[in-house]
Amino acid sequence: MSSEQAATGQTRDTAAGCGQHGVRVFLGAVLHFLDDPGPELDPAAWELFEDGALVVDGEGKVAWAGPAADVPCELRTGATKVDHRGRLIVPGFVDTHLHVSEVDIVASYGEQLLNWLQQYAFPAEAKCADPDYARTVAGIALERMLAAGTTTASVHTSIHTTMVDAFFEQALQRNLRMLSGKVLMDRVTQTPHYLRDPDVQTAEDQTLELIDRWHGKGRLGYSISPRLALTCTEDMLAMVARLHRQQPDLWIQTHGAENPEEIKRVLDIYRAQDSSYRSYIDIYDRFDLLTGKSLFAHCVHIDDTDRVRLAAAGSAVAFCPDSNMFLGSGLFDLDAAWRYGVSVGLGSDIAGGTSYSQLYALNQAYKVVAVRGGRLHALRGFYLATLGGARALSLDRHIGNFTVGKEADFTVLDFAATPTLARRAEIAETFAERLFALMILGDEQAVTATYILGRRVHERQSPAPV
Ligand SMILES: [Zn+2]
Repeated sequence: MSSEQAATGQTRDTAAGCGQHGVRVFLGAVLHFLDDPGPELDPAAWELFEDGALVVDGEGKVAWAGPAADVPCELRTGATKVDHRGRLIVPGFVDTHLHVSEVDIVASYGEQLLNWLQQYAFPAEAKCADPDYARTVAGIALERMLAAGTTTASVHTSIHTTMVDAFFEQALQRNLRMLSGKVLMDRVTQTPHYLRDPDVQTAEDQTLELIDRWHGKGRLGYSISPRLALTCTEDMLAMVARLHRQQPDLWIQTHGAENPEEIKRVLDIYRAQDSSYRSYIDIYDRFDLLTGKSLFAHCVHIDDTDRVRLAAAGSAVAFCPDSNMFLGSGLFDLDAAWRYGVSVGLGSDIAGGTSYSQLYALNQAYKVVAVRGGRLHALRGFYLATLGGARALSLDRHIGNFTVGKEADFTVLDFAATPTLARRAEIAETFAERLFALMILGDEQAVTATYILGRRVHERQSPAPV
């Protein structure tokens, strides 16, 4: 047995029969979602196979998921078996919002959003003009995501085409399903001279070139990325809407209603031109930016009218609880968003957020919901971090669960990753209790392995300290 086989417990079922080429059978507890379990935890919305198997075909697609004892003969025979029994196999996590350009400013001290941008984010992003630096941070971000079990993300870069190229190149090399695009920002009074699109036409030309180069290549998708209303002119927002009308298969990502001081400044600027703007989200709405492919990070300070509009448009929100607390932005109302039918995904928002782990984000999300008087059940949390995120990014026909034919991006989680988690999981009486312990006590340490299209791309290096 090779060391790789020893490490992963791989064996091949050599019995003669009706096997298919390149099939792999992953044994372990298998959990995935068919729908949002909702506040009533609808049992039809998820499937759990505690002694389960996930079968991946030679193309890296899900061929079957169910009880290990029931794997069909034609899939079992001749298949490579990978033993993760005792661990939990879930669809790869979806991080709906982070900044690859901010890798190096994680854990920067003491500022709320507007000063954070000036003091930390903009100087860090300026460095991304350098292709070597851009490649370095792109590689770090992707490796950290995979180590945390994140297999898909919606990623902000910088204004530089070098940064977009570096990110997409490395995502393509790893065959990842990723969304990203060049950041657009041109409002002279709100952007530093060293980090600004010279004019809308140049920004559009660069965006079109990048779309041509990357959109639809491998599993990559292009997301038109106006940074936020504050840093964009009206002409830039109008250009984004026009481009999306011309190519509605593109995505749009931006920020909205994150921080009270930011919101006041945005409304002051836009109302100086047109006093009828009702809210921050209304600005995007009036520029035709609320589409079924639009993603708005944060939306901490929105009202029911905004929620109705977001839901009606099919636009999604990236809920970034760690960032919202780290930058002192506020507490997103997850229950209200869900009540109004707004599609919500979970985001790390590196580097306003401090962890690449979606388990850690769920820990923070639970606390935000709790402070607002609600509860986030582990099942709904894991839905949020997997299929919920895939839906928020309009990628759920490709990823997000283990229905047959989906791309087999998944992660394997260890209930005994740390002594505290191991003890809590050991005394838990139900699966839901163990899952909640993982959601609250887990982070990237709990990730045993991450697989892309059925191939292992990350394995925890050191044994669990138990
Ligand atoms: Zn952000």
